[in-house]
Amino acid sequence: MGNKRYGMLYDSNACIGCQACSIACRAENKVHDDVHRLQVRIEGPKGEFPNLRMDFHRQSCVMCDNAPCVPVCPTGASYTNEEGINMVDEKKCVGCGYCITACPYQARYLDPKTGTADKCTFCYENRIKPGEKPACVSICPTNALIFGDLNDPNSGICQAIKKQATIKYKELLHTNPKLIVIPNRHGGEK
Ligand code: SF4
Ligand code: SF4
Ligand code: SF4
Repeated sequence: MGNKRYGMLYDSNACIGCQACSIACRAENKVHDDVHRLQVRIEGPKGEFPNLRMDFHRQSCVMCDNAPCVPVCPTGASYTNEEGINMVDEKKCVGCGYCITACPYQARYLDPKTGTADKCTFCYENRIKPGEKPACVSICPTNALIFGDLNDPNSGICQAIKKQATIKYKELLHTNPKLIVIPNRHGGEK
């Protein structure tokens, strides 16, 4: 069996925009109040009364296979681990911000406390390694998030992807994100 290749599926139809995920992320990863690893953007109301709807859009690192944030790093602090997760080595980061500029998803920030780059890590160190799900996935009350191994055709995430049409944000950039999205049935995903 080869390496795992972790991915996440976000069902924007199941999402209700409650922000439980972003709050859980903040608590789990001790994210500074001035920055965020995850937000759910709420757009709307859209449509004509009484047929109004809200659209939801997950804003976080999309875990690119071809990650622009990695090759621009002058110190090797920004790297991809053996399970395909793009990480930051805090000890090597000099806070130059090149990776932040290179990321087309506005997913990275300089941690106001440490001065080093940070972003979503799929909760790699504190939850994936010990065999748990990411904090945002565990807390979601509508099961709008599925996490798992994209290399295992029998995993829940692969089975779910097979059943319906999915997209990746900004596909034209060829970054090949491992955050995969079930688009809003009314269209309008970006
Ligand atoms: S979304 Fe941004 S931070 Fe995340 S892997 Fe892609 S380029 Fe890097
Ligand atoms: S901020 Fe840190 S991780 Fe980003 S490019 Fe500079 S040294 Fe590398
Ligand atoms: S996987 Fe972890 S770090 Fe990434 S958004 Fe979810 S809770 Fe935050």
